[in-house]
Amino acid sequence: MLPVVLMLQVVHNTLLIPAEEQKVLVGAEQVLGHPVEDVRLQVDKCENFPIYLNEGHPHMWGWPTTNNKNASVLFFMIEFSLIDAHIHVGQFREIYETPAELVTYLTKVGVGHFAVSSSTIAEEDYDKVIGEMKELVSLGKDRVLPVLWLTPLSLHNGGMDRMLNCGIEWKCIKIHPWLSFGGWGEDNDDREIAISIARDLQVPLLIHTGETEGSYPSCFDHSIAKHPDVTFILAHGRPVNEAIELMQKYENVWVDTAFMPTPNIVKCCEAGFVDRVLWGSDYPIPKYFYPEEDMMEYYANVLDELKQSVSQEDFTIITQTNALRLFKVN
Ligand SMILES: [Zn+2]
Repeated sequence: MLPVVLMLQVVHNTLLIPAEEQKVLVGAEQVLGHPVEDVRLQVDKCENFPIYLNEGHPHMWGWPTTNNKNASVLFFMIEFSLIDAHIHVGQFREIYETPAELVTYLTKVGVGHFAVSSSTIAEEDYDKVIGEMKELVSLGKDRVLPVLWLTPLSLHNGGMDRMLNCGIEWKCIKIHPWLSFGGWGEDNDDREIAISIARDLQVPLLIHTGETEGSYPSCFDHSIAKHPDVTFILAHGRPVNEAIELMQKYENVWVDTAFMPTPNIVKCCEAGFVDRVLWGSDYPIPKYFYPEEDMMEYYANVLDELKQSVSQEDFTIITQTNALRLFKVN
C-alpha cells in the first residue's frame, strides 16, 4: 500500500481544492458532511472516485490538524494498491506525455507504483530520455519504477552506457523487436547484450510481443531456455496461445496485460499462471488510439472488466502482488 498525503485548506466550511486536484478529490466535499473532529473519516460512497482497494471500494481518510472546524487544514491520505507494470512517458508519434501529466493521471486513476519507460527512445535522444525519467522520479518518488528501453543503436553509440550510468535506478530492461525491426534477432549479439544487462542488474527483461515478424513469443524460445536466471516478461502476451505455451515450458516467463483482451487474461489464469501475470495499461498509448474516449473512464472500465472476470484473489495478485514481488517493491 502506498500512502499519498494531500493537504487541503478548509476555511469557513469551504474546502479549497486546487483545480488540478478537483477530480481526484471529488469525494472530498462529503468530508464537510461529517464532523471534522472525526479523526478517521472513511468516504466510500463517492462514485466518481475510481480508486480500487481491497474490496473494490474507494477509500479516503482525512483528519484535522486543529480543533477549529471553521479554519483548519485537513490532511487526506489516499492508499493506492494498484500497480501498473506497463506505462510510458514522453513522445509517442504526435502525442507528448509530460512527467507531470503522467503522475497526475496515474494518481487520479488510483495507480500507486508504476513501471515506466520513455517512448522518446524512438528518437534515439538519450539525454532527453534521461531528463524525462529524472523529472518523473523527482515527481513520483518511489512510486516510479524506471524501465530502461534499449535500442540496438544505443548499444553501439554510447547511448546505453550513458543511460546506465546516469544515476537512475533501473528496475527493468525493455526491448522492442517491432519498432527496432531487424534488431534483437536471434542470430545477432545485441539480444545477448540486452539479456546480460538485465542479469547484471538483476531485473526482468520486458519484450514487446505481437503478430509481426520477429515479435512472436516463440522467437524468444531459445533465449529463454538459455537464460533460466533471467525473467522474461512478454509484453501484451500476444498471441496468447504462444505466450501460454512458453509459460508452460519455462518458469522464467511472465506476461503483462497491456492491450490484452480480458478473455486472454482469463485464459492465462485458467492455464494456471495467475502468479506470472502483471497488470499493465500501456498508458498514454490508449490516448493516441482512442482520442474520443475519456481516459479516466477508459482506465476504470478496463480495470472493472478484469475485476468482473476473475476472482477477487486473482485480481489482487495480478494488479498488486505479482509486481511487488517481481520489481522487489517494499
Ligand atoms: Zn508499451
